[in-house]
Amino acid sequence: MSAFYKSIRWRLQAWHGLVLLVVLAAFGVTAYELVRENHFKRIDAELQRRMLVVAASIGPRNRPGAGKIAPRPQLGFRLRAEEAALFNEKVPEPFYYVVWLPDSEIVRAANAPLDVPKPDLKSTLSAPSLRRRGAFRELAFAAPRAGPRGPGGGDDSPRGILVVGCSVVETQVELRRLAWWFSAVGGGVLVLGLATGWLLSARAIKPISDISTTAKTIAAGNLSERIDLADTESELGELARVLNGTFDRLQSTLTQQAQFTADASHELRTPAFVILSQAQSALKRERTVAEYREGFEVCERAAQQMRQLIESLLILARQDSGEDNMRHEPCALDQAAIEAVELLRPLAEERHVTLSLDPGPASVSGDASQLRQVVANLVGNAIEYNRPGGAVEVTVAQENGSAILKVSDNGLGIADEDLPHIFERFYRTDKARSAADGHTGLGLAICKAIVEAHGGSVQVFSRPNEGSVFTARIPSGENAMLR
Ligand code: ADP
Repeated sequence: MSAFYKSIRWRLQAWHGLVLLVVLAAFGVTAYELVRENHFKRIDAELQRRMLVVAASIGPRNRPGAGKIAPRPQLGFRLRAEEAALFNEKVPEPFYYVVWLPDSEIVRAANAPLDVPKPDLKSTLSAPSLRRRGAFRELAFAAPRAGPRGPGGGDDSPRGILVVGCSVVETQVELRRLAWWFSAVGGGVLVLGLATGWLLSARAIKPISDISTTAKTIAAGNLSERIDLADTESELGELARVLNGTFDRLQSTLTQQAQFTADASHELRTPAFVILSQAQSALKRERTVAEYREGFEVCERAAQQMRQLIESLLILARQDSGEDNMRHEPCALDQAAIEAVELLRPLAEERHVTLSLDPGPASVSGDASQLRQVVANLVGNAIEYNRPGGAVEVTVAQENGSAILKVSDNGLGIADEDLPHIFERFYRTDKARSAADGHTGLGLAICKAIVEAHGGSVQVFSRPNEGSVFTARIPSGENAMLR
């Protein structure tokens, strides 16, 4: 269960839900507040309008007669018919008024609540003041007397104190309904958004689950499985391509490894079998010295073959492991060629092949014994796959910052169909014959591995029955890109 809460899909959904909730709540609250403010502004404007009408309706009760001195005329309150109508209108609720006249008379609209308290004179003197009283909204005002004020200029006491109000119960009910409506719509949008988000996130992460399913199948041993992604343009498509490429390499490496092990075992089996059968037959009964000698000679040849093979395998294994146990010291490729060629001269003579060497100065940074092995393998092949009277030419030179080793022969050559494979491990063009001669098909693979470990490359050019040219190019000095 906790794994579920840690899943990308769940986290996406949680964030998506949270953001959606915040946006909806912010939008809903803002909209609600705007509507509410609008409603009360309208009500307040109506209260203001009515308050002016009510204030203007307070005036002298009887007009003072001519010549009569009336320092403080009796004030009365009278609304004209069209003004009285203002207090019947429903905008949205009936308005009412209460007027406290100076002579303690209270005039109130018929619909005015009985408990409207008389406002405090101070707070209402300068400007109308708004007050909220339960479900009522009221504007209180002390209407000033007309005429100049101040000492000797007039009377400071108000003409009357008045309250104009209305009940906001209906408005509140309407606002509450609006709040419910906003919440319902918001909730609906939230649910819809969450459901859509859930489906979208499922679609978004489907390629990921496809990738992990395929990876699991591959891990379980089905190496040929590949990720099948319809949308190859997306980032996940790119990832799938990279993973498929990795799986390809993994499969080919594992296949090669399995093939390599099978081939190595196969190659070792023959000499091991030879040694075993020789030993068994020697032990069966007493033999003459000459017979023992012959048996040991066979065993020695087989053991030599095994040792050669094991050494080759060791070289390749070291190159494969990528361990940097190779020496990185300045060495002369021409010197390595001279030494290797000298070692092979007897073989060339035995095969009646002319062996010539043109060693120009060429230095590289690397391992001299490994470079000797490269020359020996290439020259050995050029002699072996030659015919009596043939020639092998070895040249070493420095060219464009690289040391070049060229081994050419005018021997058997290599068929076009074999050319792409000759650097593969255990590949031999004529398996039966080469195996009998002690050839394992590892010589060129070793050359390639060593030269590549020195940052170089090997190329071959060959024509059947005309001969072959092997060229190894190794960057010299600072150009050497050692692994
Ligand atoms: P091997 O131990 O069989 O010589 P290599 O890897 O050295 O293995 O060579 C692989 C194959 O390439 C050989 O079996 C041979 O057929 C072919 N080959 C290599 N060098 C030459 C050459 N100079 N001329 C013709 N064929 C060659």
